[in-house]
Amino acid sequence: MGEAWRIVAVRRLSEAQLARLSRIAEVEYFEDLTDDNREEFLAALSRAHGLIGGKLELDEAMLAEAPALRVVSTISVGYDHLPLAAMNRRGILLCHTPDVLTESTADTAFALIMATQRRLVELANLVREGRWQAHIGREHFGVDVHGKTLGIVGAGRIGAAIARRGALGFGMPVLYTASTPKPELEASLGAQRRELDTLLAEADIVCLSVPYNADTHHLIDAAALARMKSSAALVNVARGRVVDEPALIDALQRGVIRAAGLDVFAEEPMPGDSPLASMANVVATPHIGSATHETREAMAQLAVDNLVGALAGRGPRTAVNETVLRRATGESREAQ
Ligand code: NAP
Repeated sequence: MGEAWRIVAVRRLSEAQLARLSRIAEVEYFEDLTDDNREEFLAALSRAHGLIGGKLELDEAMLAEAPALRVVSTISVGYDHLPLAAMNRRGILLCHTPDVLTESTADTAFALIMATQRRLVELANLVREGRWQAHIGREHFGVDVHGKTLGIVGAGRIGAAIARRGALGFGMPVLYTASTPKPELEASLGAQRRELDTLLAEADIVCLSVPYNADTHHLIDAAALARMKSSAALVNVARGRVVDEPALIDALQRGVIRAAGLDVFAEEPMPGDSPLASMANVVATPHIGSATHETREAMAQLAVDNLVGALAGRGPRTAVNETVLRRATGESREAQ
């Protein structure tokens, strides 16, 4: 090893993954971040060349106190919690974990679709709580999944995997939005691209799988909810703030839409006193999109590959801003 690399690792890396990091660097590991160890974490960060972990908390002020930092490897595909513009300015490489979590997150979306349409949680609780005392009647009936129109808002990796499940498994016509057309989805699934407003008006189940950014902040607001069918359900496996949450609560309370299946929330963990926690027409899960043993291990493995590859000079497998940084370096060389 030439320079002695220093890595700060945060949250739930296995011993095997930590051992891989230790082979190329001195590693300071924080199994969790709390008020008690925050100073220690900031001190470690101020010396670090690499930062890896899940739910990383990093802002511009912290970056300013981390002069040696050159690679951040997040154990997630979304990076809306990280200061990308500031990292680009500093030339810090950001790596993430796409693809390996796609199928598990699509499974979660489908679990929410099934649960909201068939009222699984509400009706299972009837049994669990000893309230199943007569044959169930119309007031307990759900709504079909098969054959209903599935609207995918953000037909990227995860959106396409949800669309595949719907079209091939449940015979659902698929509508989608994306920044660019998806001819392969149209050819393989018969999916049709729509403007958002049209998709909202036509779909029986609207499923959100866009990244969170300035363009998608409150993409689903009161006006968008009002465009949906009153019989429709909204499923969100993207990010909580893609939806205007108070507007959603209001729409669910007033019957503007029928139901919601939510894996992500404006604030996480969601406060226990949120109306979403107790509404019969809401199925809420605690951000479990990718939370299986297999997928979380694959994500950690990829994040470690990325960090080790980047520091060792081989390059990461999946970086967010490699092209931006390369262009910036090229441009500054040309300017010299
Ligand atoms: P992706 O492949 O980049 O897909 C995002 C899709 O959204 C792309 O099709 C993109 O269009 C489209 N898009 C972007 N901005 C849009 C806009 N303003 N309107 C309509 N469509 C827009 O990302 P992914 O891997 O599928 O992940 C999507 C997001 O899911 C992540 O960013 C993350 O926040 C979330 N996620 C959540 C969990 C969870 O635990 N619940 C797990 C994993 C991921 P183009 O294809 O044309 O660019």
